[in-house]
Amino acid sequence: MSSANLGREEAAARSHAISLQSIAVDLDLTGAPDPQVTGFSTLSTLTFDSTTTETWIDFIGQSVESVTLNGHGVDVDWDGARIALSGLAEHNVVEVRATAAYSRSGEGMHRYVDPADGQTYLYTQYEPADSRRVMACFEQPDLKAAYSFTVSAPLGWSVLSNGVATHITTTETTQRVQFAQTKPISSYITCVTAGPYHRVDSHWSNSAQQVDLGVLCRASLAEHLDADEIFEVTKQGLDFFTTAFDYEYPWGKYDQIFVPEYNLGAMENPGLVTFTESYVFRGASTRAQHEARANTILHEMAHMWFGDLVTMRWWDDLWLKESFADYMGAHASAQATSFTDAWVSFANRRKAWAYQQDQLPTTHPIVANITDLEAAKLNFDGITYAKGASVLKQLVAYVGEEAFFEAARRYFRRHEYGNTTLEDLLSVLEEVSGKDIHEWSRAWLETSGVTTLTVTDAGQGDLTITQDAPRPHSMQLATFDWSGEPHTSTLIPTSLRELTLTDATTLVSAPAGALRLLNEGDWTYAKVRLDDQSLDAVETGLSTIDSPLSRALVWSSLWNATRDGELATSRYVKVVSAHAPRESNVAVQTGVLGNTFYAIENYVGEEYQGELRAAWASTVWAALEGAEPGSGSQLAWARAAADIASVTDELSERMAAIVAGTSPGPAGLELDNELRWQWITALAARGHVDAVQLDMERERDNTGSGATHFVQAMASRPTAEVRDAAWSRAWTDENLSNEHLSATIAGFGSGARPDLTAKYAGRYFDLIGQAWSSRSIEIARRLVLGFYPASDTADLGGAWLAANDHAPAALRRLVTEQRDHVQRAVAARACEHASHSK
Ligand SMILES: [Zn+2]
Repeated sequence: MSSANLGREEAAARSHAISLQSIAVDLDLTGAPDPQVTGFSTLSTLTFDSTTTETWIDFIGQSVESVTLNGHGVDVDWDGARIALSGLAEHNVVEVRATAAYSRSGEGMHRYVDPADGQTYLYTQYEPADSRRVMACFEQPDLKAAYSFTVSAPLGWSVLSNGVATHITTTETTQRVQFAQTKPISSYITCVTAGPYHRVDSHWSNSAQQVDLGVLCRASLAEHLDADEIFEVTKQGLDFFTTAFDYEYPWGKYDQIFVPEYNLGAMENPGLVTFTESYVFRGASTRAQHEARANTILHEMAHMWFGDLVTMRWWDDLWLKESFADYMGAHASAQATSFTDAWVSFANRRKAWAYQQDQLPTTHPIVANITDLEAAKLNFDGITYAKGASVLKQLVAYVGEEAFFEAARRYFRRHEYGNTTLEDLLSVLEEVSGKDIHEWSRAWLETSGVTTLTVTDAGQGDLTITQDAPRPHSMQLATFDWSGEPHTSTLIPTSLRELTLTDATTLVSAPAGALRLLNEGDWTYAKVRLDDQSLDAVETGLSTIDSPLSRALVWSSLWNATRDGELATSRYVKVVSAHAPRESNVAVQTGVLGNTFYAIENYVGEEYQGELRAAWASTVWAALEGAEPGSGSQLAWARAAADIASVTDELSERMAAIVAGTSPGPAGLELDNELRWQWITALAARGHVDAVQLDMERERDNTGSGATHFVQAMASRPTAEVRDAAWSRAWTDENLSNEHLSATIAGFGSGARPDLTAKYAGRYFDLIGQAWSSRSIEIARRLVLGFYPASDTADLGGAWLAANDHAPAALRRLVTEQRDHVQRAVAARACEHASHSK
């Protein structure tokens, strides 16, 4: 194991021996605008007590110039990841002078040059363990320190950190900004951003405190920044959480900054939350996108208490903060903002992520066993976030909302600025609720896999509910019936009853009805199967159900059955074609359209695929033309058109004419830069757009986003030379940024062209081991996931796993998961095939 991959036991030993007080960090970023300058100087001063004479400090960068221990220079003993220290006293001051590197992978200090205006932007991103790429530190969450940052940067730049700027000195061309010392925080949530960012200010207060708010983005995106809506949600969130948690916002000011080429949705740095720029809507956007952004704002805000104020001791309990924040993102959206349907999106989309992850051979209990940092990095997954939050929802159903929040309040008071494990939360929950939470934890947090619930007629008005892997479920069963004649009436709720399931089978009485829906209200975490009669009912009347949450649960059930090879894709597509055009919840609709395209491309054999693609293309176009002009739904169908147009020529002429401006297109549909690129990339994948036209498109949209779309569209062109160049560049060009790498990979795989890409399957397995050891984990992960062969009839994946027993566990995990997706598709294709021979 490389010395960069810190292990759990050695981290525990270090925090046992070290008592850290403060870290002062002085960064010189004045050279950043010069592309020839690859690194920056970083000076860390760590003050700590020690009960051992030896330890190490973490640092990854270009060089370590000097190390001083208690005023005396010592020999630099650095292996590229750790600086060894010996001769420690009881009380120590260690000064490390080093040179760190600017990053292109989004890990550490990312540097970005905006093609629109040539301006340079910097930001840091650390979780789980990249703060050591910027400063020498103790890279583990349970060694909290009071941090003081000082940053030198070009004059005129906006320079931010977790605390407020307290002192600025300037020269003619530079500024030196000192920031207030933070309260004790972990290294992974410290943050620095610097660049000519555009800033909008606001302010929030309640009877107890005043908080300055800022929203920032790149200058060239300023015209698209809807700061008012962001502030509105932010203030609603601060009102909600300070009241619900009965604890003041702990971090002084609250800045939220949208940064380029970001590897994730957002990061909860205290006082300085970083977000992906995809939340600054450059083109038309759906309500679902605004809802998702509000959810993320609130998720990160919940972390200010759960995660930042009280932090997990080690990454085993990463889920504790993520599940909590995920739950709170939806809960606060529904309670405190205009996005009252937040739990509908959660039921349909977040849970789909959880169900998918939980059926992989690599699934794990929510409480995970994270032995080292590489394992931690891969655990930012559907179990940690979405299953964890689903299970918390079940916990709230079990103990009650008031008890749940009271437990949170006590937990924050008791552990403020400290570190915790699961036991600390369970004990306070038990104390408040008086219920056996440990038993509940064993059933839900310490097991893996998803239960499947089915319902069958037991006669005499009784139903049998069966669960294949029994767990205790607090849930509801609803029945629906036709308001009049089927086909001309609507499905209306006729009964609702609360149930507690514990055993493999439960007998319940329920009135007869056309549709029986388990888990109405989405309290529990389980796959729900529809019985044959209910399936017939939703096939006829899904979109007539009034409740969006009930519809979301039905959509979810249908998708799970399709993924599991129990419902033929063509039947799923039939339901979608009939009911998705009338789905009024755009988040659900968007999810369904994405699933449909995925199913057609992966869960249908070649012999049926052409026909299904053509039929779906017609459905999409009809729905696009039939959608309300200018609506989010119209936009969702227009995006679905781009997907299907990359694999069939059915829509090519119509779309090309609209792009060229020779046809007006559907009324109300604005072909803004974002949508235009999606359509053009699809046309490029079919060979209808050439490099000359793509160059013109790039000139037309000379922005960061335009540059990324251009890379993808160029790599999408269907020739052997283009795909070969994309392949080579992705594996070998280390100057390719994270975002352009992904665009290159997407282009390479676009258009479903095995004639162009299948020959690379063998080479892929020859390359991944080397990529894993030589590239950063973020970049290696994108290569391993993005290039996995779309079909693998020879099971090269299985052969690789058999031959590479000793490959890093994290790499094996990714290969195992991709292989499982391919195998699942084989089973689903068999289901589709069987449906044709009936
Ligand atoms: Zn989070």
